[in-house]
Amino acid sequence: MTELQTLIEEIPKYQPGADLDVLTRAYRFSEASHQGQQRASGEPYLSHPLAVAHLLVDFKMDVTTVTAGLLHDVLEDTGATKDELEREFGQEIANLVDGVSKIGKLAFSSREERQAENFRKMLVAMARDLRVLMIKLADRLHNMRTLDYLPPEKARKIGQETLDIYAPLAHRLGMAKVKAELEDLALRTLHPEAYVDLQRRVAKRRLEREAEINQVIAILERKLTEVGIEAQIRGRPKHFFSIWKKMHDQGREFDEIYDLTAVRVITSSVRDCYGTLGIIHSLWKPVPGRFKDFIAMPKVNMYQSLHTTVIGPKGDPVEIQIRTWEMHKIAEEGIAAHWLYKEKKAGKDKLDESLVWLRQLIETQQDMKDPREFMDTVRVDLFPDEVYVFTPKGDVKALPESATPIDFAFAVHTKVGEHCVGAKVNGKLVPLRTRLRQGDIVEIVTSPNAHPTRDWLQIVKSTRARSKINQWLKVEERARSIELGRELFEREAKKYRLNANAILGGDDARKVAAELGFPGVDDLLAAIGYGKSSVHQILNKLAPTAILEPPEKARTATSKAKAEQGVRIRGVDDLLVRFAKCCNPLPGDQIVGFITRGRGLTVHTRDCLTVAKSVLDRERLINVEWDVEEETSTRPVRIAVYIGRDRPGLLSEITGAISSQNGNITKAEVTVTDDRRGINNFVVEVADLEQLQGIMTAIREVPDVINVERVRGL
Ligand code: MN
Repeated sequence: MTELQTLIEEIPKYQPGADLDVLTRAYRFSEASHQGQQRASGEPYLSHPLAVAHLLVDFKMDVTTVTAGLLHDVLEDTGATKDELEREFGQEIANLVDGVSKIGKLAFSSREERQAENFRKMLVAMARDLRVLMIKLADRLHNMRTLDYLPPEKARKIGQETLDIYAPLAHRLGMAKVKAELEDLALRTLHPEAYVDLQRRVAKRRLEREAEINQVIAILERKLTEVGIEAQIRGRPKHFFSIWKKMHDQGREFDEIYDLTAVRVITSSVRDCYGTLGIIHSLWKPVPGRFKDFIAMPKVNMYQSLHTTVIGPKGDPVEIQIRTWEMHKIAEEGIAAHWLYKEKKAGKDKLDESLVWLRQLIETQQDMKDPREFMDTVRVDLFPDEVYVFTPKGDVKALPESATPIDFAFAVHTKVGEHCVGAKVNGKLVPLRTRLRQGDIVEIVTSPNAHPTRDWLQIVKSTRARSKINQWLKVEERARSIELGRELFEREAKKYRLNANAILGGDDARKVAAELGFPGVDDLLAAIGYGKSSVHQILNKLAPTAILEPPEKARTATSKAKAEQGVRIRGVDDLLVRFAKCCNPLPGDQIVGFITRGRGLTVHTRDCLTVAKSVLDRERLINVEWDVEEETSTRPVRIAVYIGRDRPGLLSEITGAISSQNGNITKAEVTVTDDRRGINNFVVEVADLEQLQGIMTAIREVPDVINVERVRGL
């Protein structure tokens, strides 16, 4: 209870008027919930949430956060429910505790740097309220401090996770003190021998160096007093991890690392910071390239200071930081230092408020020096625009908001995207246009026959997926155009009894292609396929003498070919087409073309089942349109007339209706059942859909006709 007493005494010092009653109730609730549970150290479990609450008070967090800190493990480790918390302590506290519990469930396993970054971002995104992260950091800090009681394997795992995820997160939030402690504790867990060795050597060296540092401090103090600058000057031991990292990353020996201790000067104004810098540089020679002005250009986490390194009185480099008290507070406490300021503006949307600090970063950091650093911040900062999802193996992928399984598939691998047919989200099959949500586990179903379609471009949200799909479509369109071009060329050549393959394989073809400005024969064929070049003109260039003669054989085919004319493909003239028997398209119907190698172009109606079934072969479908400006030819179409009651004269009335619309009946089948109902089938020659519709309307007006239908096929 004395522990609780300290909290009760401390909070009003920075948050006057805080509701301390809720804190006491939370203490009792946590105590009751964790009753009988123990920490690995053997202490009662309650000691952990209490320690977390104390850390949150050190961070100067509001009473709501401290209260949630007391309760942070009750959802995970006891029988308490979120509803219960909401009833007892309100929604805000319940949400904070729930947020911490959710983060607790995420297990980070990958060692890959990019994965770590995504994971950190996901934590921020999932936290929604930054206070959740503060509680999580306090929780992690206390767990790290008490790591010795855990089995080594488990301790190492937590240590690595701390180094990969939580220390960088503390750094992002500007909490230098927390970051340094987390790193040192992680180092002690992961490399105990290196840590102990470092501890010993640093202590020894500091003794040796102390005299020099003290000398620097004394000289500087005297000089600053002379010019009337009030400042606090201290030697600042660097934390072990930063020394270890320097040795490790730069492959340096311990003895080569000089800046074990830095000197820190804290003044009361920015002007005094620059004044102090001038004096330091007049006293000792600065090391070139080591001066950094983070006052004029603050770091992304709002860190401000002047950094310089000078050659000290004994000839060794001495690192010096100069900052104001305000900058010092922000450097040490980061986001926590901003909390008080934020608390004063009550009544705003909570989530919004939590983001204010990060938003400010963006607004003030637009002219960042290192664009990469800026992008990193932007990504963390704009987290409402990103969604973080898992692969089945637990890797995290960052995708834009509203991203779909297709975006995910392309994020996994281009090949996965290109062959994706379906997706499972959290184990359930979903449509490809499904919007992914935070934390979804996504599995992609692929098929070797599946390919991207133009429709996907409407669905995807990520630039990567969009450009990969476009790329695929472009390659595919080219292949399709070459195929179509070859097809058209072969047909044209056949008319003149020429061997298309021999012509296209010959030197002349390459020459003509080059003459026309194409890199190769394939490009020439593609141009024909795209409709950019006329197949007739090109054949004319390749076999001029043959073309001079009118095509003999073609003449015999003309009568049949003529009837099949009237379809145009993107400006390609002179194309022989067939109409599919299954749907028997009429001019006016919505149509598509279907390219079959060696059989040419078959035209179907858009709603034809054959087309629907061939959906996986989408790339073989091409857009065609009717070209009815030519002389009108007629096409046969079958219609079924349903009779309600047969009577004398009915058939002649129906045929009369057909003739009244200029329809030419070529076939009629009349079936009448015993109850005088019947179906009459007619094959009628019509010019187009409009005429057919006129005929059908006319038939419907005949008494005793129940219905008229167009029958697909003949
Ligand atoms: Mn905990």
